[in-house]
Amino acid sequence: MPMTKSSAIVAGGGIGGLATALGLANKGCRVTVLEQADRFGEIGAGIQIGPNAFHAMDYLGIGDAGRAKAVYIDALIMMDGMSGEQIFRGPLDEPFRREFGNPYAVIHRADLHGVFLDACRAHPAITLVNKERVVGFENTASGAKVRTAAGNTYEADAVIGADGVRSMVREQITGGDPIRYSGHVAYRAVLQLDQMPEDLRWNAATLWAGPKCHMVHYPLQGWRTFNLVATFVTDDKNVGSNEPGTREEVLGRFGNIVPKARKLLEVPTEWRRWVLADRDPIPNWVDGRVALLGDAAHPTYQYFAQGACMAMEDAVCLADKFERFGGDFGPAFQAYQQERIPRAYRVVYGSRELGRIYHADGVERLVRNAWLKSKTPEEFYAGVRWLYGGNGLVGAGQKAAA
Ligand SMILES: Cc1cc2nc3c(=O)[nH]c(=O)nc-3n(C[C@H](O)[C@H](O)[C@H](O)COP(=O)(O)OP(=O)(O)OC[C@H]3O[C@@H](n4cnc5c(N)ncnc54)[C@H](O)[C@@H]3O)c2cc1C
Repeated sequence: MPMTKSSAIVAGGGIGGLATALGLANKGCRVTVLEQADRFGEIGAGIQIGPNAFHAMDYLGIGDAGRAKAVYIDALIMMDGMSGEQIFRGPLDEPFRREFGNPYAVIHRADLHGVFLDACRAHPAITLVNKERVVGFENTASGAKVRTAAGNTYEADAVIGADGVRSMVREQITGGDPIRYSGHVAYRAVLQLDQMPEDLRWNAATLWAGPKCHMVHYPLQGWRTFNLVATFVTDDKNVGSNEPGTREEVLGRFGNIVPKARKLLEVPTEWRRWVLADRDPIPNWVDGRVALLGDAAHPTYQYFAQGACMAMEDAVCLADKFERFGGDFGPAFQAYQQERIPRAYRVVYGSRELGRIYHADGVERLVRNAWLKSKTPEEFYAGVRWLYGGNGLVGAGQKAAA
C-alpha cells in the first residue's frame, strides 16, 4: 500500500462515510471517521444494490465479502396493484450478470454496513470514533478542521461531510438550502419466512403499484426473512424518521389494492416509518478542503434504489482522484465533483419521475402499463446500461477483468 502523508476526517459513519474511509485509506491516506451515534450501525431493513455498487465494492477490495451476504434475486417485477397483473419483468439472471459484470442483489443493511465496518476496523490507517457529532468546520492554512458537540477539535488535510440528508457540513457550505419533503411516507417491516404468505414467496424484488401508493417485498438473509416497504402519499405533516407507525394508516392507504397483495400488509405487528425527502441539486459540493459525499451531497427518494449505491460510487471516484492528484485534496475535490454531479443528480431527478410512475392513476396508469408491458429484456438492459454499467466509473468491470 502506498503510504502518503495525507490525512482526512470523515463526518458520518454510514455506508458513504465508511466507503470513503476505505477508499482513501487504500490509497495511503490516514482517515478518522467521526460518528455521532453511540455505535456504528444501520437500521434493520433491506436494501437493493445494483451491479454498479458491486463494481464499487470490488474497487474497495470488499466485493467478495459483500457478495457472500447477498440474496440473488431472479428478477425485478412490477405488478399493477389494482388489477393484480404483472406489467414488467426485468430478468437478473446470468445474461444480465454477464452484460453488467456483476449481479443485482438484495441484502440486509446491517450485513452490508458490517462488511464496510469490518474492513475499516481491520485497516491500520483508519480510526473510528463514536459519540462525536460534528457541529462546524473551518478551512485552515494547511487543510481543514472540525469541531464537535463534545468540544473536541479534529484537524487534517481535508474534511469529507458524509453526514446524511440532514448534513451539518452541507448546511455550512450552502448557507442552509431547504430539505424538500415529498409528501410520501415509507413504512418498513421485516417478516420471518413463515409469516410471508406462500403465494408471495417470490425470489424477486416485487413492486405492487397503486394510486398514490406502492409496496415492495423481497427475500433477505439467505431467505430467512422478507423485507417489506409500503410507501404512500400522506396528509400527515409531522412524519419523522425511524418512528413507530400504525397498521391502520397503512391499511387505509392501500384500500384499492388486490387482496393477494393487501393481505401482506396485515401481517406486521410492528411498523417503523420514515418521511421521504430529497433536496434540490446544487452546483457545488466543495468549500476549499471540505467536500460533501453521499446523501449529504445528493439525497434522493428511494425509487431507483440507488442512494447507497451512489454513495459507494462517490467514494471510489474520490479515492481515484486523490491518487491521481498525488494526495492533493484541492484539485482532487474539484475533479471529483465535476465527475459525480451529473451522474448522481440524474438519479435524483429520475427518482422523482419514478415516484410519479409508481403512483400513477387513471389514464397515466394505462399508459404506464402498456409502455412497461411492451419492454423486452434487451430494452430493459438498454434502459439501465447508463446506471448499472457504471458509465465509465472507475472500478466497473474490475471483477470481470480479474
Ligand atoms: C425507504 C428507503 C429505502 C431505500 N432503499 C435503497 C436501496 O434499495 N438501495 C440504495 O442504494 N439506497 C436505498 N436508500 C437510500 C440509502 O439508504 C441512502 O442513500 C444511504 O444510506 C446514504 O448513505 P450515507 O452514508 O450518505 O448517509 P447515512 O446513511 O444517512 O449516514 C450518515 C451518517 O452520519 C451520521 N451523522 C449525521 N450527522 C452527523 C454529524 N453532524 N456528525 C457526525 N455524524 C453524523 C449519522 O448518524 C449516520 O451514521 C433507501 C432509502 C430509504 C429512505
